Amino acid sequence: MQMERLVMIPGPTPVAPSIRGQMARQVQAFGDPRFVADYRCLIDELGTLLRCDGQTFPLAGTGTLAMEMAIANTTTRGNAVLVVSNGFFGDRFIDICEGKGLVVDVLRAEWGDAVSPAAIAAQLAQKPYAAVTVSHVDTSTAVCAPIAEIGEVMKDFPDTLYIVDGVAATGGEFEDMAAMHIDVLLTASQKAFGVSPGLFVVWASAAAMQRRAALGTIPEYYVDMHRWLPVMQDPAKYFATPAINLVWAMLESCRIIAAEGYQARAARHAKNAAAAHAGFAAMGLSVLARAGLRASTLSCLLYPEGVDDARFRASLLDEGLIVAGGLGAYAGRMFRMGHMGNIDTNDMVVALAAVERALATCGAAPAPGAGVGAYLAALAT
Ligand SMILES: *Cc1c(COP(=O)(O)O)cnc(C)c1O
Repeated sequence: MQMERLVMIPGPTPVAPSIRGQMARQVQAFGDPRFVADYRCLIDELGTLLRCDGQTFPLAGTGTLAMEMAIANTTTRGNAVLVVSNGFFGDRFIDICEGKGLVVDVLRAEWGDAVSPAAIAAQLAQKPYAAVTVSHVDTSTAVCAPIAEIGEVMKDFPDTLYIVDGVAATGGEFEDMAAMHIDVLLTASQKAFGVSPGLFVVWASAAAMQRRAALGTIPEYYVDMHRWLPVMQDPAKYFATPAINLVWAMLESCRIIAAEGYQARAARHAKNAAAAHAGFAAMGLSVLARAGLRASTLSCLLYPEGVDDARFRASLLDEGLIVAGGLGAYAGRMFRMGHMGNIDTNDMVVALAAVERALATCGAAPAPGAGVGAYLAALAT
């Protein structure tokens, strides 16, 4: 029998029917007044959602391009940047910054842990930094950085811009640029917004836009905020073709988030993740991230003794579920499951039951229903 495959990797995440409907629409011209109004609406909604006092840029590209855009518009060759890395995606900023000729200092946590706000404060006091980068949720470890506390630290360093990678967080974990003192936030459509890949969003605070202005001409072209600014202020203008259907899809995602309420959505993610962790523990799987630092958008789960990664993930595929493998030193030792965006309790029950059957195939036999039972019990509390 041909089964639907439930996509439970940490992005792309399953796309809700109403969002799919937007992507299936006949395209419109980018100058069509109907599309211009929709694009304007998306820019405004995203800005309001994250409480951005500057400019919001929803553009065609992936999260990695958004990371480049953040660095390109806030730094210039020779500047010092502090990269706070809690895993693979934190490290990606090192390459981006070194490629641009920046002086890069790195504060790195053991995988499963996070760099403390105190350590960041101590480093910032050493010398002037143009910017600090932090991944809100590092998708290689499912560690959630304390971005609000780091924001408090940043208040003492007004000349250092606070850049947050929200690619696996924004729309799932709660974020508020104004309250958390974030200067540049970035995300991509395929993670907690639950849209197909292809659109990214960069939010730049008023302070970040001032920095961009102070830089004058920059070498980058497509990601230059000043080339996009006239379009963001009047989407009837052209610089490069917007991803028309993804703009609509993202707008529908914003409507879904607004209808639930961002805080309620984040609380739902947190409750679901805690319940899922109880379910995984009941099946003998342990969570990599330290308690208190666990993301609610995905989990990294270490195998019990004797379970082979390749065999487990192949069995899971047979059960209709796809998850991601571990990265770095954790390749072969764990798997990563996304549980963000518009997935619901039914999806989670299916996912936990499939994990249980795959574990049984691999010789680790949890009691039938153990994971689902623990998950549902935790949800009910
Ligand atoms: C997925 C991800 C990225 C990269 O996004 P792409 O859309 O794959 O380019 C960057 N940072 C984090 C935290 C991510 O989860």
